[in-house]
Parts: sequence; structure tokens; C-alpha cells
Amino acid sequence: MRVRFCGVRGSTSAPGPEFVRYGGHTSCVALAHDGARPNLVLDAGTGLRNLTAHLDGHPFRGTILLGHLHWDHTHGLPFFAGGVRPDADVTVVMPAQGDPEEVMERAFSPPHFPVTLTELEGDWRITACDEGEFDVEGYHVLAAEIPHKGGRTFGYRVSDGTATIAYLSDHNPIGCGDGPDGLGTFHRAAMALARDADVLIHDAQHTAEEFPAVSHYGHAAIEYAVGLAEAAGVRTLVLYHHDPSRTDDELDVLVAAHQGGPVEVIGATESLVLDL
Ligand SMILES: [Zn+2]
Ligand SMILES: [Zn+2]
Repeated sequence: MRVRFCGVRGSTSAPGPEFVRYGGHTSCVALAHDGARPNLVLDAGTGLRNLTAHLDGHPFRGTILLGHLHWDHTHGLPFFAGGVRPDADVTVVMPAQGDPEEVMERAFSPPHFPVTLTELEGDWRITACDEGEFDVEGYHVLAAEIPHKGGRTFGYRVSDGTATIAYLSDHNPIGCGDGPDGLGTFHRAAMALARDADVLIHDAQHTAEEFPAVSHYGHAAIEYAVGLAEAAGVRTLVLYHHDPSRTDDELDVLVAAHQGGPVEVIGATESLVLDL
């Protein structure tokens, strides 16, 4: 499995010279089977625009799995050139919460946006999934609801039979209890998603020091992500969904501070590619 990070910011995009190395686009990760073009995308933040360059001129034909519907996870959809062309075939999947097309049209329709997603060029379908296990695009997926803020949020565990990744982009674990350090519990859904994963891609919006003042935003502290990765037996933790004001130099320091422990720790950058 090839895991390509196309956007790694949380909340809103972060352009500017202080953000060039990690990248300013919002959440988007593309998965591909060995030697094939990407066909499963996790979240559709502005980073989705970057994916077109990795389709070798071909249309996108696959599925976009949304963890939830906040702007930083959906605003790339209508600007995804590889998916907005007559020969594209795009299935968007969101956590079930009413009629999926209607839910999406609240964000993508006039007067908020000129067109609905199903009016885009190509064959676009807006669908939903429930918690549980299902197969999509040749991957086995476990979807589980995790605490965040403002709408239903799923974490996903995705396996191709060889490698397994866990994706918890926006996660506020104190929603399930304070846990030993006041940063949240290693609750059942988080453990089920992350257990023994090769790669855990996790919300790293805050630090433990910042957390008491900002925990109501619905995100996690980096120290929680490290603790979860250790408790779940994860091989590599990818710190993801960086705060939009966190500069490259600040991220370097934060990532380095958590390296050298039992779990390999990487800071997600917009050019990161993991071959598993
Ligand atoms: Zn987010
Ligand atoms: Zn969110």
C-alpha cells in the first residue's frame, strides 16, 4: 500500500513562507495498491488538489472517505481536477446522518457555493456509511465513531491485507473521559482502530501544555497521540492535522521532542509518501 499525504493542516489552510516545508493545505491522504494509481482518499481538504498530479493524467476513479464534514475536510472536493472531468468516477462516503446528498448540499449549493457536487463533471455519487466493517476499492475498512465536536466523526482503520493504517484526523478523547494525564482516555473505539496498526495518522493540533485552554475545540494533544500509539502497539505514528499557526520551525521542535521512544514518530508533511 502506498500512503500519500496531500494536505496535513487542520482547521484552515496555512499559506506563507513559514509553512512551506510541512505544507499549508488541509487534510487529505491518498491510498494506492502496489504499483496502481490512488483509488481511496481519506478526507477532501484543500490538499485534494495535490492528488491530481499523481494520477498520471488519468481521471480519478475511486472513493473519497470523509471522516466528518468540517470545511477543512471537504473544501477540496469541487477543486479536484482529477475528479472533475467527464471520465471521472467519484464516490464520496460520509458518516451516516440523514440523506447524504442533502447534507452535502448544505455546504455545496447556492448561495454558499455556485454548484452542487452532483452537478460537477464526471460521475459523482454522495453516499454514507455506518459504523462497522466493509470493503471498498480492494481495502478492508473498520469505521468507528470517535469524539470530536460539531457533527458525527468517524475514525477509519484501513487494511489491504498486507499493511494496516489507522486514521483519526480530528479526535477529542476527553469526550470519553479525562484519562490518566487529563488529555483523554485510550477509549475502546480509539484502541480498536489503532491496535497493532503499521501506521497511526492522528490529530496533533495541540500540545499538552496548550491543551487545558483549548480542549473545547475538539482536538487532541500530541502527547495523547504518542500515548495511544504506545498503548495500541502501533509501529509508526504520523503527527497530522497541524494547527494552522504552527510554523515549520515550531513543528520541527515538537516532532523531535517525541522521537527516540518505543514508537517511531514522524511529522506529516504535504510531500510525505509511505510505502507499506
Ligand atoms: Zn479538521
Ligand atoms: Zn473537525
